[in-house]
Amino acid sequence: MEKNNFYDFQYDELKSFLALDLNLDKKKSSMRANQIWKFIYKNGVSQIDNFKNLPKEFKENIKKKITFNRDTIQEKKKSLDGTIKWLLKLKDGNLVETVYIPFGKTGTLCVSSQVGCTLNCKFCHTGTQMMVRNLETSEIIQQILIAKDELEDWKIEKKIRNIVYMGMGEPFYNFENVKKSILILKNKEGLDYGPKRITVSTAGVSPEIYLAANEIKTCLALSLHAPTDDIREKIMPINKKYNIADLIKSCSEYAKVNKEKIFLEYVLLKNINDSEACAKNLIKLMGKFPCKLNLIEFNAWPGVNYEPSNKETIDKFFNLIKQSGNIVTLRKSKGGDILGACGQLKTESEKIRESLKNN
Ligand code: SAH
Repeated sequence: MEKNNFYDFQYDELKSFLALDLNLDKKKSSMRANQIWKFIYKNGVSQIDNFKNLPKEFKENIKKKITFNRDTIQEKKKSLDGTIKWLLKLKDGNLVETVYIPFGKTGTLCVSSQVGCTLNCKFCHTGTQMMVRNLETSEIIQQILIAKDELEDWKIEKKIRNIVYMGMGEPFYNFENVKKSILILKNKEGLDYGPKRITVSTAGVSPEIYLAANEIKTCLALSLHAPTDDIREKIMPINKKYNIADLIKSCSEYAKVNKEKIFLEYVLLKNINDSEACAKNLIKLMGKFPCKLNLIEFNAWPGVNYEPSNKETIDKFFNLIKQSGNIVTLRKSKGGDILGACGQLKTESEKIRESLKNN
């Protein structure tokens, strides 16, 4: 029988598991669940043998039913600007990437939700990789634990202050596992990330935006990248399924329920979406629901057909939005020298799959 993976458990599930599968009474199962949860998620102890104050017999029993083993680091790259990218090897050999982006002493961790991606946004490197599979809850959680270990981030004052689901994959195409991972992240007995410290970024899967408003409840980022359907369709095929009108409706609802502005992400692509007319249309669109804009410099990758907008165009675009009274920021790219920046993540998983097929 395959063992349960610890990092798939919700707090309450662990309690019931200890009661039912390890035959602990109600009080004991609560107490043990709390102890283990704290060891793993608060103190960063990853080996069950190092759990102090737990009876040996209990440790032996739990080891028979639950594995605490972690995915491994296949490769680690550090950028000149301090960005760190870990390539993690999952138990089936697939590879995913996790990126830490420092801002001074603290920073943001960018986690992946799928191996590869099915969306095919034309400017995104991950899109050129054949989709392999959804990540399990435990595989998402482990990205955070591994990064915390690597950064020695187990003090009360967190180094990883924010977690963004902006790595490889579309989080809302892996809704259940993403949701479960967020519930674990938010749990106060453990990692204790507040809803405002977590951002899920979607290319715009409208039905799941409605669901997430009530079931996920974090900050939401929408990868908009164009103010009109005709442009958006050309660079993001998903727009044919859920268009801008759909997104305005679902994001309005999300903002209403969660009382937070939606972050609109907008990669500036030369001569594609960076004209004055685009800026004006974007201003109109921004008037329709509570949102703020994050302009992103395009990060090139080998073989891409787009170019970044030039500096004057970016400044002009930025100023037009700013003058309209909207909140706008410009995200300078980080980690570009290690292909760790937005849209540059891509792993060799497809090749591994190919070679497995051939064996
Ligand atoms: N599928 C989700 C999560 C991926 S997030 C989503 O689309 O939101 C990755 C972010 O980086 C998205 O906003 C994406 O559009 C953006 N991005 C993709 N390729 C990029 C590139 N080459 N340069 C800059 N940003 C890019």
